[in-house]
Amino acid sequence: MTIAPLLAISKEQGRSEEDCALIRRAYDFAAEAHRGQKRKSGKPYLTHPLEIALRLARLKLDAVTIAAALLHDVCEDTSCTGANLKKLFGEEVAFLVEGVTKLDKLKYRGAERSAESLRKMFLAIGEDIRVVLLKLVDRWHNMETLKVLPLEKQRRIALETLEIYAPLAYRLGIKDLSGILEDLAFPIVLPKEYEWLTKITKHTLQEQQRTMEKARRILSQELAKEDISFLDLHARVKHFYSLYKKLLRYDMDLEKVTDIVALRLILPTIEDCYTALGFIHTLWRPLPGKIKDYIALPKPNGYRSLHTTVFGPDEKIIEIQMRTPAMHEEAEYGIAAHWAYAELKRKDPVMLSGTHGASGRNHSTSWIGQLAEWQKQFEKPVEFLESLKIDFFKNRIFVITPKGDVIDLPEGSTPVDFAYEIHTDIGHATVGAKVNGKIVPLDHLLKNGDVVEIVTGKRNAPNRDWLSFLKSPQARKKVATMLKKARETETLERSQKKELVELRLTVQNRIGLLSDVSRVLAQSKINMEKVVTENRRRHWPTVIIRAPFKGKTELEKIMVRLKTVKGVEEVGYKMAGT
Ligand code: MN
Repeated sequence: MTIAPLLAISKEQGRSEEDCALIRRAYDFAAEAHRGQKRKSGKPYLTHPLEIALRLARLKLDAVTIAAALLHDVCEDTSCTGANLKKLFGEEVAFLVEGVTKLDKLKYRGAERSAESLRKMFLAIGEDIRVVLLKLVDRWHNMETLKVLPLEKQRRIALETLEIYAPLAYRLGIKDLSGILEDLAFPIVLPKEYEWLTKITKHTLQEQQRTMEKARRILSQELAKEDISFLDLHARVKHFYSLYKKLLRYDMDLEKVTDIVALRLILPTIEDCYTALGFIHTLWRPLPGKIKDYIALPKPNGYRSLHTTVFGPDEKIIEIQMRTPAMHEEAEYGIAAHWAYAELKRKDPVMLSGTHGASGRNHSTSWIGQLAEWQKQFEKPVEFLESLKIDFFKNRIFVITPKGDVIDLPEGSTPVDFAYEIHTDIGHATVGAKVNGKIVPLDHLLKNGDVVEIVTGKRNAPNRDWLSFLKSPQARKKVATMLKKARETETLERSQKKELVELRLTVQNRIGLLSDVSRVLAQSKINMEKVVTENRRRHWPTVIIRAPFKGKTELEKIMVRLKTVKGVEEVGYKMAGT
């Protein structure tokens, strides 16, 4: 374990003498501070900050961040203070280390502490994005080396990763790291589910990857023949935890998830996307209802692409996604990319297009570099962040569930918007709400950082009045749909209301009696729901038939006809279900 690889990379990247000197000084200081200290694995403690510094260097972050990474834990168990660091390494390094130390103090312990932790995390973002990047890479490495800790601690850290860090990366639009973090936490937080998923997907995954490789080869040749030029065509494999979450929505039925592996086709313009879509449908037959035009109708989170699912090679079902470089950037880097692309399109379009060739796994290492690149376009990190924040928080508010999940909603949202965002059924069943522990009216305006709790009742019907204050379009749609459905059901009931009736036939039993009885009912188009024969001693048997009848006239008509059946002595009835 030496500084050699770190310096080698730095030189290779053409960092200045001054930068290399700063990195070297930070390394020496860290080596001294952590001397004799061991990680739980028994490895020297220094391996940890060094690994993080190395990763950040590979991702082309600036020397200040790399120095801060080397020093990020020195104030933990040593006598070193922030003031020391400031004197030795300057204000910026000290500021970053302090930020990380602050975040280290936040421990997710479930419900009541999480809300505060999350708010602080968001505040930290507001200070300097490099603090958050450093902390995310710190967590990434800690997750990889988690196995040596006691199980209880592993579980706490993994849960925190799953519920705080991964969503945070996701919210920042760094979806790939979000996926990596989730996949590291998954086997620890949900070991049984993980094992189950590994077992059931093993075969499917291999098969899908083979199919996809074949499809990629064919499509790439055919597109070339057709003179449709494209920038990139690669297969992407769904992150494992993300697949698990999707299965939860699809009755755990792997057959229903057709995008475990998907082909991604990057084309120069929107027009090219539609041309390619048309061509693919002549090559491979599309599955009806599976063409999704997220270009004309973007997803609520802004996602844009064309998706289609086709019977590919060997009639195997495959999903193909078509998008432009700008849409690809947005999908990979989120709102950050959206903002940066708008900025950079004017300044340096080449730089952006240069990153599209990277395929599959390479994406996982490019995002930080990308963010860092964008950050460099600005004089001060603060400016970068302000711009980022404007888009990130624009017209959105972040509220928290009692469990500590962050829910983002449009500005002006109410507890009912929140309820529908959690789950449609919760929305429908909402009868009351508490904000920060206090009961509020349902049209109460939510603010950033509010902890929102929904009180649900037994009924499952939205209130028409809600439409006057609901903010989120999705929630409004859910309410409108439900109200419409309720109206339709009501009309239906009024027009042909059928009552369940229990007919009691006292009979002299004989072979064929039941079939004669059921023929009478069938001729009148009455569906029997239940037939029981009661055979009590010293009484004639009773046949009990339960069936729906429309009105009394119909019932009486049937009763008369039943009496004509040979062996039926008496016919009585009572309302069933009463
Ligand atoms: Mn650390």
